[in-house]
Amino acid sequence: MHIGLINRYHQWLGLPELEAVSLGEGNTPMIHWATWDSHRIWLKLEGCNPTGSFKDRGMTVAVSQARFAGGKAVICASTGNTAASAAAYAGRAGLKAFVVIPNGQVALAKMIQASAYGATILAIEGNFDQALQAVRAVAEQESWIALVNSVNPWRLRGQETGAYEILDDLGHAPASLVLPVGNAGNISAYFHGFRRRNEGIPQLFGIQAQGADPLVQDRDLDKVTTVASAIRIGRPASAHLAKEAVKESHGQFHAVSDSQILQAHEELAHGGVFVEPASAAAYAGLKILYRRRLLPTGDVVAILTGNGLKDSQTPAMWASVEPQIVESQHLLESIGQVMNP
Ligand SMILES: *Cc1c(COP(=O)(O)O)cnc(C)c1O
Repeated sequence: MHIGLINRYHQWLGLPELEAVSLGEGNTPMIHWATWDSHRIWLKLEGCNPTGSFKDRGMTVAVSQARFAGGKAVICASTGNTAASAAAYAGRAGLKAFVVIPNGQVALAKMIQASAYGATILAIEGNFDQALQAVRAVAEQESWIALVNSVNPWRLRGQETGAYEILDDLGHAPASLVLPVGNAGNISAYFHGFRRRNEGIPQLFGIQAQGADPLVQDRDLDKVTTVASAIRIGRPASAHLAKEAVKESHGQFHAVSDSQILQAHEELAHGGVFVEPASAAAYAGLKILYRRRLLPTGDVVAILTGNGLKDSQTPAMWASVEPQIVESQHLLESIGQVMNP
């Protein structure tokens, strides 16, 4: 049974006694993917959350708290997954959801998902960072609208549960953790989650996409491009927290190219793990860290942040989407050609 994260981890979350708004989030699979020399590679499949991304971990807490505080609506800026998650949890809570997106920059399935949950989608002509600035201004002015981006401390508090689950599953802290970094909330939440539990802190490796790698370059970027739309962000709101997390855990930031992301995407999918491109960036980064011998000995956990069905356009760059037309009486011949090329 899925009791949801608030009930499961109540003692760690610091929430008042409130009625949880839950969709059965968290408790995601962590699979043993491979062993590379002295490294046991684990993949945490965050795409198995109710709306298909890790954002649900933070959203259950942020929306529960918003309703408890008397809020009537939630608002967020989004590259897609925050929008879908906010829309779902607002629907569950009986609150209105407003999502503000950079026009033309969000994967279609995520827009459909947010809209289906009943959110109002507003698009601005600008990038994610400008959308975030706009929603912050609205939420500051109107106290009945709760901002549910990861600058909301309850979002990060909820996302700490990812670290709790890894500790509970492994029985100890992994030696390293690899995850994609966009607005930089999640890496910060993992750091604080491990710190709060006081059972050891993994080296944190934050992976960005070349073309959208302000933390690797250590400067804000106004123009960002990458195939991984979920991490197409030039001015990460939690940059200061992420830098602290990486520094204190003796980790690093790394950038991977679009072609490395797509190759990792394909490799994961062929192994049965279908993620979205931003999540594949973590796996691409993991492979580079391994090849450069930068990983410490022991368990390595890669956080695969979102479900592959979220972005069905991108795989068409490497997977054939046209079926092979065959006549039914020649089916076995076609199979034979694949088995014995
Ligand atoms: C939001 C998101 C990220 C980036 O997380 P941040 O907390 O913004 O750094 C990575 N991958 C996916 C799929 C996401 O939805």
